[in-house]
Amino acid sequence: MRYKYEIIRTPRKGISVSITNENKITVRCPWSMHIEEVEAFLDSKTLWIEKVVTRNAARLALNDDVVEHKKVYVEGKKLPLVIGDKNQITAEAVYVKKLDDLEKVYKEKFQEGLNVSVKALSELTLLTPASVSIKGYKGRWGCCDTRNNLIFNYMLFMLPPEIQRYVIVHELCHTLCHNHSAAFWKLVSDYVPNYKKLRSALREYDFLTSLY
Ligand SMILES: [Zn+2]
Repeated sequence: MRYKYEIIRTPRKGISVSITNENKITVRCPWSMHIEEVEAFLDSKTLWIEKVVTRNAARLALNDDVVEHKKVYVEGKKLPLVIGDKNQITAEAVYVKKLDDLEKVYKEKFQEGLNVSVKALSELTLLTPASVSIKGYKGRWGCCDTRNNLIFNYMLFMLPPEIQRYVIVHELCHTLCHNHSAAFWKLVSDYVPNYKKLRSALREYDFLTSLY
């Protein structure tokens, strides 16, 4: 195993490895497990680890400027991020007084458009949410609660419109089917036939949800 990793010892029986979008590798294993056993487990996972680490590294390299807050995505395009004396999104740049104001400016700019999109897709799918709101989320793009309230991450507006549409349809479909069963994906595919492609394209943007 040639990658650096952190071990978290737990009372559990099994062993598992996870890799964050930033390529932090964590192994969780029982207290009693010998390091040789951990290494052997990681060796058995080498191909998978290499694949994920390489993909993450390529994406991180491509998004250096975003990670360093020099640029920010707006509907799939990178614009300069200017931290100064106003809060505004224009065709040329995103201006904020402080990084925490991103949520506010994206909401101001895109909330109405989201409502229009949800309404149109709701008419198309005949699926109606109880309400639609926007908030800052870590690690997820949207959510449909048990009462069918849809909540979208404001970072949704950083994604290309086609992927935004997929996320909206995905959450709308949860108003009928609150899980990720085959029936759920069948329903999604009725309205987004290329959802598999969009779902993997979305993963390339997942790092944003832990960046802000
Ligand atoms: Zn889902």
